[in-house]
Amino acid sequence: MSLFSAFATDVAIDLGTANTCIFARGRGIVLNEPSIVAFNIAKGSIEAVGAEAHEMLGRTPANIKPVRPMKDGVIADFDAAEKMLMYFVRKVQGNSPLRRPRIVIGVPPEITQVERRAVKDSGYRVKASEVHLVDEPMAAAIGSGLPVTEAAGNMIIDIGGGTTDIAVISLAGTVYGRSLRVAGNALDEAIISYMRRAHNLLIGERTAEQIKFELGSAAALDQPLTMEVKGRHLVEGVPRTLKISDGDIREALSEPVRLIVQAVRDALERVPPELSADIFDRGVVLTGGGALLRNLDKRLRDETGLPVLVAENPLTSVVLGAGRMLTDLALLRKVALD
Ligand code: ADP
Ligand code: MG
Repeated sequence: MSLFSAFATDVAIDLGTANTCIFARGRGIVLNEPSIVAFNIAKGSIEAVGAEAHEMLGRTPANIKPVRPMKDGVIADFDAAEKMLMYFVRKVQGNSPLRRPRIVIGVPPEITQVERRAVKDSGYRVKASEVHLVDEPMAAAIGSGLPVTEAAGNMIIDIGGGTTDIAVISLAGTVYGRSLRVAGNALDEAIISYMRRAHNLLIGERTAEQIKFELGSAAALDQPLTMEVKGRHLVEGVPRTLKISDGDIREALSEPVRLIVQAVRDALERVPPELSADIFDRGVVLTGGGALLRNLDKRLRDETGLPVLVAENPLTSVVLGAGRMLTDLALLRKVALD
């Protein structure tokens, strides 16, 4: 056994509202699955977790209840969160003889001291030797390659499922932080309500997300896009297919997108002047799955006048940043929460 693999059980975990990612030291990203647990209410047991539970969404019989333990940037269901965490950690460890791993967990910026304590305890219950917590925006900034320990303003905008987290980081600390409860899920909901309002068509959340992936945008596209959307007609009660365009969906998304843009503008107004000068020079970094919405970077650029960059790996920047802390102990000491 090489010296390296002796440490290979150390893991970094991003407990996101939409997706949980795990990075294992020496192996890279070993898990990326939806943050969902399906409970069997009749048996009082777990039916499925992660991707398997996601498949069941919208198709569950009455005795199976899908739960998203993380919601709106807080831990909505602690018991489910802990079960999910345990299940995922065991899954990546497999049957390998357990060394007591060190674990770094990214947590939402707005969780309370009590919740932090509880997340740490969950980590110890999966037999970790050490559990460290890091603010998700901080981890996202590190994972996106921002020089967080320098004396300069770095702005990171992490658009996840439940929240858009905006942070300005300097000298390894958060100078400004705001969490807005408008992000990917709100975009999906806006599509559902638009389809109902404008077309009398009832669609589910998975279909709405699919439409967002295929047609969604925050500013006009060079190439028009269209797709066929299947749903149930609200008046006639029968299945119906409609052709929808990127313009329709831009209209559907206009309000939540406006709120996100507004939150970024507010943040820029509240940052101390020296740091905002840095941000105007260096630009802001967009990350989280929501950063993949077409032309959101362009829209923010147009409305703020700032350079806007999309992180290289928007869906994994938090876990990559937390993973860096497994090997960079100086960084861990500087940015870990107590
Ligand atoms: P979280 O950290 O809350 O788990 P993620 O950073 O994993 O969230 O992002 C998940 C969100 O990103 C979901 O709302 C998902 O629909 C959205 N998303 C993923 N890919 C895209 C895409 N290509 N276009 C628009 N939104 C996307
Ligand atoms: Mg996230």
